[in-house]
Amino acid sequence: MAESDDDEISAYRRLAARREFNTMLRYWIACPNRRCRRHRRCCGDVESCHALFWPVVPEEIKVWWRAICEARRDRSSQRQALRAASAAVASWRRRQAVRLADAAAVQRRSAQALERPKQEAMPAPHSPPSPTSPRMRSM
Ligand SMILES: [Zn+2]
Repeated sequence: MAESDDDEISAYRRLAARREFNTMLRYWIACPNRRCRRHRRCCGDVESCHALFWPVVPEEIKVWWRAICEARRDRSSQRQALRAASAAVASWRRRQAVRLADAAAVQRRSAQALERPKQEAMPAPHSPPSPTSPRMRSM
């Protein structure tokens, strides 16, 4: 088989995979192309639909899809690709959990730093008003 035939086939497969992905994520629900909405699947310009909706796809799904594409590029079987994608998502979730915990710790620390000076400035809850306070002096 000639090189260009090979390229053409892989380009076709890439397009078919992307169309399948567009359909799986139900882009057709909001697709500006009436045919996609009518047929309840991606049947318009695959690339423009992808470009339109990809930015709003949740990161976890992007991680999954990228892992599938990478595995398929390496000529993995569908089963291997799905396994690789699950592993990629699990790893992403772990990293995300660490990142969220770090962000929460930073937020807690900065909240505590804001609380501290206020606590020091406030008088003790049961101490009587100071006789030298400006209000007492004027009476
Ligand atoms: Zn469409």
